[in-house]
Amino acid sequence: MFPEELAEMLKDMGEPSYRAKQVFKWLHSGVNSFDEMTNISKALREKLVENCYISKATIEKKLISSYDDTEKYLFSFEDGETVESVLMKYHHGYTACISTQVGCKMGCTFCATGQGGFCRNLTASEMLSQLQSEQKDNGIRISNVVLMGMGEPLDNFDNVMRFLKLVSHDEGMNIGMRHISLSTCGIVPRIYELADKRLQLTLSVSLHAPNDEIRSRTMPINRKYGVDELLKACRYYSDNTGRRISFEYAMIDGVNDSDACARELGGRLKGIIAHVNLIPVNAVGGTGYHKSKKERMDSFIKILEGFGITATIRRTLGSDINASCGQLRRQSLNETSG
Ligand code: SAH
Ligand code: SF4
Repeated sequence: MFPEELAEMLKDMGEPSYRAKQVFKWLHSGVNSFDEMTNISKALREKLVENCYISKATIEKKLISSYDDTEKYLFSFEDGETVESVLMKYHHGYTACISTQVGCKMGCTFCATGQGGFCRNLTASEMLSQLQSEQKDNGIRISNVVLMGMGEPLDNFDNVMRFLKLVSHDEGMNIGMRHISLSTCGIVPRIYELADKRLQLTLSVSLHAPNDEIRSRTMPINRKYGVDELLKACRYYSDNTGRRISFEYAMIDGVNDSDACARELGGRLKGIIAHVNLIPVNAVGGTGYHKSKKERMDSFIKILEGFGITATIRRTLGSDINASCGQLRRQSLNETSG
């Protein structure tokens, strides 16, 4: 809840409005119970316990990469549903990659989350609570957030917008929009809607193919919004916000990694302020996909550079702990279903 909403609720409980700010601050400092709100009267705390609950992300599993200290969490919520989240340590601070949905409807063929189907949307508080659990567990402050965990953020638009406003609130966690990235598979009307909000967040677009033929094979959403339409929306986004778009491109051996693909991609991205992130595909069991060879990726980058496009190979953090989202939840569901 926003401070204004809390004030409204507290007013109905017969409390002065300044209490709203206190409660808001407590909630965003990561308390798990109303009893921890020590500057609030016992009577009010009892009323809050009766009428409200604080969303909590409970740690079910935690894996720590032995290569780079990346931590991967499996969290559960009140209804027992689970999501994954990853905490990465960079020289400039901690970045959390959080989930926005339990599962995903989009069905991308290379993605473990997509293969597991959709369960439900997360609320804004469930997104916040992933950050707070990680901060508490490590005694740290998170400085950057990426919405790149399980789920498609633009398919849970209202809750995600609410989360963005809350996480950047100056009385709350105060993580500025410039420190937040949102990744989408390309739900075109929502990209326009987001662009019109003129937030200063970084938009990452999961492109993964230079044309409709290949993209529709791996990403079903492309049958609804093709590459031309998607790139037009991306141009609109960067024109409207002045922000560079980051394109994600998972390199899949023999599928989308040829020199011809690189040339086609280069031609199509011309005129967009863009950066291309090449990610060696994480081979998820059962998909039959394998990551491209290093030489292939180097050649791909050279061709893109010829078109004036900067591209880098994304450092794959936590590769020993299945840090590609969706894999840990799937493993855990398989264990429970025997
Ligand atoms: N639904 C959003 C955000 C979550 S997925 C989206 O698709 O953008 C986060 C990123 O991981 C996306 O770029 C997605 O394409 C990528 N991804 C999914 N499975 C992957 C895999 N097996 N290997 C590499 N990247 C993968
Ligand atoms: Fe959903 Fe993103 Fe996975 Fe596609 S890649 S299935 S959109 S989470």
